[in-house]
Amino acid sequence: MKLTIIGYWGGYPAVDKASSMYVLEKDDFMLVIDVGSGGLSKFQKYKSITDITAVLLSHYHADHIADVGVLQHALLVQSYRTDNKEVIPIYGHDENEKQFNSLNHDYTKAIAYNPNNVLKIGPFFIRFLRTKHSVPCFGMRITDGASTIVYTADSAYQEEWIKFCQNADLLLAECNFYADQDAASSGHMTSTEVGTIAKNAHVEEVILTHLPHFGDHKNLIKEAADIYQGKISLAQEGMVWEKK
Ligand code: ZN
Repeated sequence: MKLTIIGYWGGYPAVDKASSMYVLEKDDFMLVIDVGSGGLSKFQKYKSITDITAVLLSHYHADHIADVGVLQHALLVQSYRTDNKEVIPIYGHDENEKQFNSLNHDYTKAIAYNPNNVLKIGPFFIRFLRTKHSVPCFGMRITDGASTIVYTADSAYQEEWIKFCQNADLLLAECNFYADQDAASSGHMTSTEVGTIAKNAHVEEVILTHLPHFGDHKNLIKEAADIYQGKISLAQEGMVWEKK
């Protein structure tokens, strides 16, 4: 499967950038994970809106869903332009009824996932882990049978991550704070906490995402590398990770 990073800023997008949005592809299936602020504009630099097969949301904070509404508008406009009347499923949790119902539209259909069950979307099998965050939020372990990615979504550190991430090919981990900061009280993780998960879960590779609007991001890598010896990268717009 192939992962393309569209947006990676925590909280809100930096100038001319986007917050959380990721594209996962296998064969002709395109799964968009989170649709953050600025994401739809950046997405079109790399992909076509009409190629989206399904959308999966981790939680209902604006930096992960701000562009869902404009995606719905885009699908409507594209339906006039291209005669494509396809209704796209948007998978979200239903612990917030109002937010969940807002995923319904002429061209999108809300589908609730049960985080206790394995969810199959096209070629992808997804397991969930409830994160430690200020609102209900779910991390995802996604496999296509050949490789496995774990996306932490937003979360403070918790022991459960180590088991959940075991032997993943890629850990796409939120890293909104530096080593010496208090990330837990705002429901996020530090560089060293991500390093601890990566090391103990024996993951193959780490990409740090949901990056902070302060400090030098290179220090996030240095700090995580004090603990985890594998490959660590900073998320970047357009970055591709692929394993067959
Ligand atoms: Zn959040």
